Amino acid sequence: MFKELFGLPADDTGDESRTDFAALRARMVERQLAARGIRDPRVLRAMLAVPRELFVPESERAMSYQDGALPIGFDQTISQPYTVAFMAEAAQLKKDDHVLEVGTGCGYGAAVLGQLAHRVDTIERIPELADIARMKLVCAGCDNVFVHVGDGTIGLPDGGPFDAIVVTAGGFGLPDAYAEQLAEGGRIVIPIGQTRRSQVMYRFTLRDGNLTSENLGRFAFVPLIGQGRSTAIRPPDDDELEP
Ligand code: SAM
Repeated sequence: MFKELFGLPADDTGDESRTDFAALRARMVERQLAARGIRDPRVLRAMLAVPRELFVPESERAMSYQDGALPIGFDQTISQPYTVAFMAEAAQLKKDDHVLEVGTGCGYGAAVLGQLAHRVDTIERIPELADIARMKLVCAGCDNVFVHVGDGTIGLPDGGPFDAIVVTAGGFGLPDAYAEQLAEGGRIVIPIGQTRRSQVMYRFTLRDGNLTSENLGRFAFVPLIGQGRSTAIRPPDDDELEP
């Protein structure tokens, strides 16, 4: 069914010893994403379209499609494919949307968001990573993604309004600037928690000037580090979360 839907070859043997990245990518989308509940066909197509192997460091390339995060230097990571797809789906993007991503890292998530939206502005606090991401995004042909260096906890003050803000690092609360930079009906997808290993993914939606929140489950992210004012949010304890 999945293979028919996306026109994939039926003869993928799953042999990872060859570096047929397109086949590994198709298998990742089928087994790590579709099989685990990522349903939006646009998100699945975007994950099929973006060559993750271009974004991971040379030393990690053989692991590009493994089911986890990978180191990208500077004590940071490229997020697990499932997490990237989950956040893209949670952001409910339409093709005319303008997106702000906070935490560019190596640029992979921004490239995926760029497949789903009209324009993506992405902010990274580590200048060296921003430079690497810019180069990789050019190599991947992503001409609607714009990388900025700065503190994403203050958003991008002159860049909005944004239809979605996707935050790929976890903090203790919701930065106040985001609601001010969000368009009516806009979504913020952000992990919030007290420790690196214990965060809850929230989707906030702005309607009639009010933000409503949904708890989307537990994830683990590197820390969101910045000076922007935040409204503290205490996520539920583990035993309060649905299994
Ligand atoms: N989006 C990336 C991907 O596609 O894999 C994931 C990047 S990594 C999980 C999170 C990134 O957030 C790191 O590169 C880190 O330096 C960055 N970061 C942390 N705090 C930040 C802040 N206040 N502003 C901008 N970037 C920040």
